[in-house]
Amino acid sequence: MIRLKYPTHKIDRRSLWQSYDQEQLQQARDTLGITDAWVSYSWGFSEQTEQADYQFLRDRLVNFQRLGIKTHAYVQGTNLVWAEHQDTDYYCRDYRGRLIPYHRGRKLTCPNNPAFQAYLHRKVALALEEEVDGVFVDNMHFGLFPVMLGKGRFTFFGCQCAYCQEQFKREVGSPIPGLFHRQSELFEAYIDFRVRGLMALVRALAAQIHASGKAFGTNSFDPRYETRLFYGTDLQQLAQVQDYLLFENHHLPSKKRSNAYLQPLVSPLTLPVFVVSYHKGIGREKQYSQADLNAVYSESQALGYAPCYKASEYTTKHVWHNMRFEQLQPVHKVESRRAQAVTLESDIPRLPGGRWLSRVFNRFYVPAMERYYENKLVRRSMAWLFYRVVR
Ligand SMILES: [Zn+2]
Repeated sequence: MIRLKYPTHKIDRRSLWQSYDQEQLQQARDTLGITDAWVSYSWGFSEQTEQADYQFLRDRLVNFQRLGIKTHAYVQGTNLVWAEHQDTDYYCRDYRGRLIPYHRGRKLTCPNNPAFQAYLHRKVALALEEEVDGVFVDNMHFGLFPVMLGKGRFTFFGCQCAYCQEQFKREVGSPIPGLFHRQSELFEAYIDFRVRGLMALVRALAAQIHASGKAFGTNSFDPRYETRLFYGTDLQQLAQVQDYLLFENHHLPSKKRSNAYLQPLVSPLTLPVFVVSYHKGIGREKQYSQADLNAVYSESQALGYAPCYKASEYTTKHVWHNMRFEQLQPVHKVESRRAQAVTLESDIPRLPGGRWLSRVFNRFYVPAMERYYENKLVRRSMAWLFYRVVR
């Protein structure tokens, strides 16, 4: 799995292999006060490829249990490794019938596709057989993300596979448009349709996981984007069926940023909220300093969320490695001079509009993403732009 997940990086394999050893976990608990761990189970490879990963985890779960750390089996959500799943059509399509890329070698899968629903339930059923305390489904979003074009239009977003087309026609009475006009009933109807489909799958997963008496959560990404429009999720509904919410963002406390914008969301909720914050993004930053971790800890205490740390995805001097706990002291509260208040401005990535330009952007959206993910040179030269948009 390590080789497949990071094919182009230098990797400190030893540190990754040791990450579930008791000594490492003890250090994690002593320095960061770890109570819960999201452990790798399925990254969207085939069952055959993942057999070794299942066994790796199975052999080490006892280490977590001995330390009283709860485990949540990580299962990939609505995307799969294309090379390993070509026999069945699980996939989203854009308005021109094209597959939609999700990072390198992966394609987005459709929550309305019965074959994909069955696939995901099977992966979750496998995870439930292990002695884990919960199952976490990552990356639960519905198809392509929308990009605003000028003030009045949106690119095609979501999915236009045969299942979505048929269902939308049945429920709304017209085909899914290829380009959206913001002030239109069809646009609103499509947003509702997309949320209904994704939330139905989340509810079904919740029922499956809760039937085994285990905890359930999904990744809700960054709620600074309007979640119904951007991801196809409804936070209220997620809170009703999940045992916790988990947000992932680029708001590691710094001079300019903080997680204060989450407070209005977090305060009314009675369930735990975990927050994973990056500075630059996965694979683009070295291990956090003691000051970073102290700032996260202090902020989480003030705002009422539980900080969640990526264990393995640091790149120091171009080498991927697990967090080096031996270099850390126990976290403690500090008087932080890092940003205290950043208000939540609902925010959608946008490009210039106009009738002609909108069509051009819409048409090249998916091919441009494909190039970005699949071509190393394009990725290296355009990464700054990509991260400027997502951050
Ligand atoms: Zn679809």
